[in-house]
Amino acid sequence: MTESTDISLAAKVIKGGGLVAFPTETVYGLGADALNPEAVAKIFTEKERPSFDPLIVHIASLDEIPRLTIGKDDRVYTLAKRFWPGPLTIVLPKSDLVPDIVTSGLPTVGIRFPNNPIALALIKSSGCPLAAPSANKFGRISPTTAQHVRKQLPNVDCILDGGPSFVGIESTVIALNTDGFVILREGFITAEDLRTVLPASNYPVDNDNKLSSPGLLNSHYSPQKPIFIEGEDSQKSAKFLEKASFLRGAYLSFSGRAPGCYGVIEYLSKTGDLREAAVNLFGALHRLEDNYQVDFIVAEPVPQREIGIAIMDRLKKAAYKYKK
Ligand code: AMP
Ligand code: MG
Repeated sequence: MTESTDISLAAKVIKGGGLVAFPTETVYGLGADALNPEAVAKIFTEKERPSFDPLIVHIASLDEIPRLTIGKDDRVYTLAKRFWPGPLTIVLPKSDLVPDIVTSGLPTVGIRFPNNPIALALIKSSGCPLAAPSANKFGRISPTTAQHVRKQLPNVDCILDGGPSFVGIESTVIALNTDGFVILREGFITAEDLRTVLPASNYPVDNDNKLSSPGLLNSHYSPQKPIFIEGEDSQKSAKFLEKASFLRGAYLSFSGRAPGCYGVIEYLSKTGDLREAAVNLFGALHRLEDNYQVDFIVAEPVPQREIGIAIMDRLKKAAYKYKK
């Protein structure tokens, strides 16, 4: 594995059909040449990602849109003007240029123009769009630093270190329909933001809508120790917490609250700042996963507004397997 900030070296790896982990403003991505099916296959193997979960294609120029998609839709350019480069993925009908492995056989492709200079330089020097999911093992915590990538994917050909991601949560994924947009995955850009440029018809779509967005599973983003959301008890969590030693528990605080019974307190924010909490979420979960003094985590819920909706989405998915 090479670890470098040398973009031309990383671009060589991409051109040779290899994998490069690179920073984006949301989380670190694991990239391959999106037009090379063998290279894309390596992403699924390295991540242990199921083949039904489609990858997002990252571009650095709007000129790629007519190459990668069919059926010109002017709304894409309206959205691009307002939100790109940025944490918005738009699902569009795909052209034949996009291999089926990228889209898990779907007739559509998710496209994003990331807002990170290293990501954009890598795409440009590679000379191809990059298929890139988050650079973590499937189902586990997403990476927001190069160190997080190294922890889960030590065998990746090359990691570009661009420091911590400044959004910290994955992109909002939307599809366009005749009336407007539907949100397939919550993210930094909210329905309200999108409504400023497009009307919404059918919002929100529930997460069981696996046909339109097959990767949206109930369980995801999980640390390798039990995590619960405070106040969202189930029989299983009650049974666990009844016997637990709270001194070996961690409290993930959003408001600054620090209940004395927990051995460790980790702050997403000390003041209830949603933006700050989003940036800190995955980093805090990684630290708690690695902290040998911590056996379990209890997370304070965050308000379901603005980016708080995406934070709660990630926390609920992280906690899902420990609740059911
Ligand atoms: P990530 O794992 O963060 O790269 O996110 C990829 C997610 O974007 C997938 O799990 C899907 O939910 C969604 N996605 C990507 N491509 C498509 C597509 N063609 N149609 C619908 N959803 C997509
Ligand atoms: Mg992911």
